[in-house]
Amino acid sequence: MNQLELLYEGRSKQIYKTDSDDRVIVRFKDDISAFYNIKRAIIENKGRLTCDISSMILGYLNSKGISTHFVERVGDDGQLCRVVDHVPVEVIVRNVVAGSMAKRLGLDEGIVPENTIFDLCLRRSDLGDPLINDHHAVALGLLSYEELAKMYEMSASINNYLVELFESVGITVVDFKIEFGRAADGSLVLADELSPDTCRLWDKATGERMDKDRFRRDLGRVRETYEEVAERLRNALK
Ligand code: UDP
Repeated sequence: MNQLELLYEGRSKQIYKTDSDDRVIVRFKDDISAFYNIKRAIIENKGRLTCDISSMILGYLNSKGISTHFVERVGDDGQLCRVVDHVPVEVIVRNVVAGSMAKRLGLDEGIVPENTIFDLCLRRSDLGDPLINDHHAVALGLLSYEELAKMYEMSASINNYLVELFESVGITVVDFKIEFGRAADGSLVLADELSPDTCRLWDKATGERMDKDRFRRDLGRVRETYEEVAERLRNALK
């Protein structure tokens, strides 16, 4: 599969056309950003590391029968992916209270609720990706109620597989963000990265943060921590 022209460049990724109409190549950049691009840096090797981690996780989910856009790894920092029609919402899955939920509801980080929490957000960075509900999504013509039910069902399965995988390497999956697309037949496909940039991961033994909060909160050792996550997953999946 040949990489052709650049179709899109975002804060952390580039998307390239290929010689197949139903495939793109996604390249992960070394850029890291937070708070809607207010805080930015370049972390050497981060593109390779997030590509590595996301490829391992999406490959694992594919092997469990979850439909994802990931086809195969391309070089150090790229993935061959299915072309999908992106749905402009984000699902945030929460197993432990942290981040914006703790802030919004005045709760302490670290509370473990009885149930899994699913937030739905509109993907509109100019509006701060506002929290919406199912009825908003249907009224805005983004998804049908049937698709929403399927999306939550897939999100719950993804969460179960992630929790199991990370449990085996001594890491708690606190929360994560995912996005979906529609394949040519209209079915929903997980079409996003899953990495320490998009998940909160806490070391079970030490409680240490192993994710982008190290960058957001100036905790240091961002690259080293991402390397540790990659290494643990590589050992678990070999
Ligand atoms: N997240 C993300 N992209 C976003 C918003 C959130 O990857 O645009 C991830 C974030 O890294 C965390 C989870 O989703 O793992 C929940 O994020 P939260 O709503 O707490 O927002 P935050 O305060 O972390 O931006």
